[in-house]
Amino acid sequence: MRVRHEHQVALTDIAWKMVDLGLTTGLDSGDATLFDRDEGVIYALPAPSARLPIRTWKDVRPEDVAMVDERGNLHPASLAEPTVELPMHLAIYAARPDVNAIVHSHAEDSQVFAAAERDIPTATIDSYTRAGFGPIKCGEFGVVASVELGEHMVAALGSTSKAALMARHGAVAVGADLADALFTATVIEKAARQAMKVVSLGETPEQLTLYHIFDEQLARDIEAGRVHLDTQTVTVQRLA
Ligand SMILES: [Zn+2]
Repeated sequence: MRVRHEHQVALTDIAWKMVDLGLTTGLDSGDATLFDRDEGVIYALPAPSARLPIRTWKDVRPEDVAMVDERGNLHPASLAEPTVELPMHLAIYAARPDVNAIVHSHAEDSQVFAAAERDIPTATIDSYTRAGFGPIKCGEFGVVASVELGEHMVAALGSTSKAALMARHGAVAVGADLADALFTATVIEKAARQAMKVVSLGETPEQLTLYHIFDEQLARDIEAGRVHLDTQTVTVQRLA
């Protein structure tokens, strides 16, 4: 369970970017984690404490990043406790071996959909492919920091989605690494904003499908399971 300083630095960098991109509303709203699966160490933004009062995520330095194992036990070298939403992060990592990083945002446009407990339609090629070839689903409501919230988010993400909404709360973006998850977090905002603007044009945003992306035969083959679509790499592979 070796600690890598570069992971602590990377997580601090993401915390700062979350502020700059408007993905957090201040204090410790939202969070991010990174799972080094080789070492079995999860790096998490910290919970505020007397030693570390967090006014924004820009207060966090690399040495403040909390470290736990995959069951949530604190690493001996960790100077801080992890974010209160750790149970949700642990549940997602356990359910999705393709996920090594999670960005949980409290950004404005996705929170409008979360407030209404509505899915965000992905109506453009970039939002549809980024979200994992489907709408950004809103999970069932779960109390902050609860195990149930984690179960609801695992259900909303399913086996391939890269984005989901936490009812009355915020959004979750998952990825192969932190940059991937952060980019998806910004695309969730873009999809939410665009859906509301399409409504302002007097139209209903139409959910994209495989048939908008691939020719009809390939879309049918993917649906029938004859072709595997990897939603992380956006590649297709014909199955024998
Ligand atoms: Zn939150």
